[in-house]
Amino acid sequence: MNINLNKEIQYLKGVGPNRVKLLNKLGIFSVYDLIYYFPRDWVDRSNIKPINKVKIGEKETVKGKVISKETRKIRYNFSITNILIRDEKGYISGVWYNQPYMEKIFKMGDEVIFHGKVELYRGNFQMNTPEYEIIKSGEKQIEDNDDIINVNRIVPIYPLTENITQKQFRKIIKFTIDNYLKYIEEYMPDVILKKYSLVDFKNAIYNIHYPESFELLQKAQERLKFDEFFFLQLAYAINKNKIKDKKGEIFNTTGIYIKQFMESLPFEFTNAQKRVIEEIKNDLISGKPMNRLLQGDVGSGKTIVAIYAAVLAKDSNKQTAIMVPTEILAVQHFNNIKNYLKGIDVNVELLLGGTQKRLREKILANLKEGNIDIIIGTHSLIQEDVKFKNLGLVIIDEQHRFGVLQRAELIKKGENPHCLIMTATPIPRTLSLTVYGDTDVSIIDELPPGRKPIKTILFSDDKIFEIYSFIEQKLKENIQVYAVYPLVEESEKIDLKSAIKMHKEWSERFKGYNVALIHGQMLKQEREQIMQEFKQKKIHILVATTVIEVGIDVPDASVIVIEHAERFGLSQLHQLRGRVGRGKTQSYCILVGDPKTEDGFKRLEIMVRTQNGFEIAEEDLSIRGPGEFMGTKQHGLPEFKIANIIRDRKILELSKEAAFSIVEKKCDLNHIQKIKLYDIIKMKYKDKFNLLNIS
Ligand code: ADP
Ligand code: MG
Repeated sequence: MNINLNKEIQYLKGVGPNRVKLLNKLGIFSVYDLIYYFPRDWVDRSNIKPINKVKIGEKETVKGKVISKETRKIRYNFSITNILIRDEKGYISGVWYNQPYMEKIFKMGDEVIFHGKVELYRGNFQMNTPEYEIIKSGEKQIEDNDDIINVNRIVPIYPLTENITQKQFRKIIKFTIDNYLKYIEEYMPDVILKKYSLVDFKNAIYNIHYPESFELLQKAQERLKFDEFFFLQLAYAINKNKIKDKKGEIFNTTGIYIKQFMESLPFEFTNAQKRVIEEIKNDLISGKPMNRLLQGDVGSGKTIVAIYAAVLAKDSNKQTAIMVPTEILAVQHFNNIKNYLKGIDVNVELLLGGTQKRLREKILANLKEGNIDIIIGTHSLIQEDVKFKNLGLVIIDEQHRFGVLQRAELIKKGENPHCLIMTATPIPRTLSLTVYGDTDVSIIDELPPGRKPIKTILFSDDKIFEIYSFIEQKLKENIQVYAVYPLVEESEKIDLKSAIKMHKEWSERFKGYNVALIHGQMLKQEREQIMQEFKQKKIHILVATTVIEVGIDVPDASVIVIEHAERFGLSQLHQLRGRVGRGKTQSYCILVGDPKTEDGFKRLEIMVRTQNGFEIAEEDLSIRGPGEFMGTKQHGLPEFKIANIIRDRKILELSKEAAFSIVEKKCDLNHIQKIKLYDIIKMKYKDKFNLLNIS
């Protein structure tokens, strides 16, 4: 980057110590930061109408001087503030309701701009709560030429805090642009600019601040959004390439074990499973380590796909490690896998934190000797003393529960083993491109045949007694029930039912049944114990927060009641609903809630309408936005200044294509072109990716 752009802002003309502090608060320290401080909006002031030419009912922009102001109290709790302005041709009022302080904002003689819909009131023009800006103070008649940046053009609106006005900020930006734009250099190779019809960088920066037309503004936005996505995708592409630079074991896909496995399979694979198995097989014979994420709704049959890969490992004399987040899940997988591999000479073992010392030693010895083909476990698998003879495949279930480091530690126990990670949380494509950009993604988007769809019913709060009698009926039929609440404990601030309180209520109402409580503030062992008892049918009703385990199979739990359903994200509701529908009887998901808004109601209707996790995830993403959707920062969701992964998904796809075409050498660049790009990636992503040894 040009050295002039690194200049600190205190050296800029007109930026005194107080301003520096203010700008620092906005994250602005250098000239570069200023140039990259983009407007949040733009308003068209190129078309300011003489007041006598405005049209009633139209949105118009006018400019005039404040000639009178007053606030009238209509009732004790209702006031109207009227600011009258005048230009050479006429008069118009800006009107505000119950905002008496507006009167203090405007001073007599101020030159102001109003933007809003024109109405006629008692023969006079007025605008209700117009957008406004004071462009010249009436008190101090300072001569300045600021008009050229504040009116008669498309004007930027910046995201600002108190103590600095749009006008003041525009002036600083204008000065910066006028004096420093010349130092900005293009870094994007010509081929890319041409292929994706992007405007050059200087042009983009200029027009993002001071667009000469809305068309140029749009081109500027497109270019800057493209760049933002592009460098992330380039970082992913480089990272992915680095993985693929390693040598991976070529698996035997025509061995004896896989043949036996296929012959003993109790059902036929779904088309989605077949497709995904092909994708995995291709990875396993590619000679490079597999790095694949397998997404599929709860119950879509990911486990059997994972076992398929593990059997291929066995045919290739390699061991498989399967890591899952909890002990119950590990036990469940162990039993399922043993069952699937009955009669086939594949040795499966289970290693838990609580495994007895003697047994543990035996397992570890066998693992090291290569006598165990598939080992299933929790975090226990990444302990120091767990050693493999030849670990060839790592499978991680419910991957969101593990950190990247834990994954890496398991992988380290082999020599570039193939890696398959699985998740039951459907992630929309735009998000997986930004979060799993260096990982290949496979999707199972089809459930095995013969599943009874879960009946989802929406109730309002006051129908709770109908629900209780329905549940009474179901309990008599020997069915188990989940009841889910958003809170663990009663809170003074929010008037919501909590799990603890409702546990009491359920216990009292259903006296003959065993009602248990589970929530995130309990110890992990305690929780697992309760889940175990629920699975063994010792517990009939499980009152819970959202902690109930992903992927747990309790076939007789076929009713789930979720109260305050409007408080949960759609994806969360979908995950919760996935707890039922695992047995032969009809399952029910009862959503209880009183959404306060039309949108809230529509959200819940989506749950009633569809059971497709991807559709729900897309909807959830568009309602709540990426940050909320992913839940926490730890998922590595990158922050974008100007791009939006939902609205700009098309640009995202194009930038990915461009970035990967460079790394895959489909697009030939010379050395200097590459250096320019890598310099920027290093600056942006050196913390996120380990890219410092790029050549
Ligand atoms: P996931 O891990 O994706 O939630 P599982 O692998 O546990 O799902 O599969 C759910 C159930 O569906 C299991 O009982 C499994 O045996 C069964 N299953 C998987 N694939 C098929 C199929 N193609 N046809 C019929 N049943 C299947
Ligand atoms: Mg599973």
